[in-house]
Amino acid sequence: EAKKNKNSFTSFSNKLRERMFDKIAIENELRNALERDEFWMLYQPQISADGTLHGVEALIRWKNEKLGMVSPELFIKIAEEIGIIHKIGDFVLQRSLEEIRSVKEKLDTSFHLSINISVEQLKEEGFVEKVINFIECAQCKKNEVTLEITETTFIEDVDSVLPILHEIRSHNIGLSLDDFGTGFSSLNILKRLPIDELKIDKSFVDNILDDNESLVLVKNIIHMGNELSMDTLAEGTENHMQVERLKSFGCKIFQGYYFSKPLTKDDLIAFIQNGCKT
Ligand code: C2E
Ligand code: CA
Ligand code: CA
Ligand code: CA
Repeated sequence: EAKKNKNSFTSFSNKLRERMFDKIAIENELRNALERDEFWMLYQPQISADGTLHGVEALIRWKNEKLGMVSPELFIKIAEEIGIIHKIGDFVLQRSLEEIRSVKEKLDTSFHLSINISVEQLKEEGFVEKVINFIECAQCKKNEVTLEITETTFIEDVDSVLPILHEIRSHNIGLSLDDFGTGFSSLNILKRLPIDELKIDKSFVDNILDDNESLVLVKNIIHMGNELSMDTLAEGTENHMQVERLKSFGCKIFQGYYFSKPLTKDDLIAFIQNGCKT
């Protein structure tokens, strides 16, 4: 018994060491990843209730020689910690704006581009001017760009972020509240936020078919969004039943594997040309 305990302790501390090693390795590689051109963007379609393309969400990808593919869930947090999220964020903005402009140009069509923004970026001096500058350089339209922020943005201090959000909206750039429902005191701050879209988190969408609590929650989020004149977007929709149920509640926009995985620019062009079908 003693031996077993000792072994499990050893394996625990090995795991911990591995994880720390991973993190240090990721930090080291992350610092040079931009210069080595290791990032690219994918675009996941967002489909309106009538089946047309509402927009796309830009999602970053990273492949490193030593580490292989690393999930953004992992490296974005580290990039925030070591203070290089600004540079990566600038890459995301510039690259996605340029690529989506070229898709629109090629297909002579228009749709929204949603870009994930971390709170560190929002708080950066001159952030809004920079975004506007990127949008203008890429010859995109401000009202076709949406910035996705999460509720964790407001954990520290709503009041310091609010003016920035108002400034963004005053330029007709969209604001979407990502992962809605997973954060804290959503309802208290919601009425103070100049938000025009609620993104219902996948964890709720996952459960609407077999869990009454998720169903009631999602139904009410959609109703509330509609009453507050916000778009509601359901993320992580994976099957027809979910989409039908969400539609019956009045959900406006859908994103998830049921419609499409995140696509490269060229695959996105093919997807749109094929009438938004894979
Ligand atoms: P998120 O913003 O909640 O993005 C949605 C995630 O769900 C994406 O994972 C997407 O690929 C995945 N997904 C979409 N539909 C489905 C589905 O039907 N089923 C399942 N199982 N998954 C689905 P991804 O691309 O790995 O991104 C993870 C997170 O990393 C994102 O979560 C976002 O928080 C962050 N992230 C990604 N790209 C960026 C970026 O450019 N900048 C920043 N700051 N964060 C990013
Ligand atoms: Ca997002
Ligand atoms: Ca999300
Ligand atoms: Ca999510």
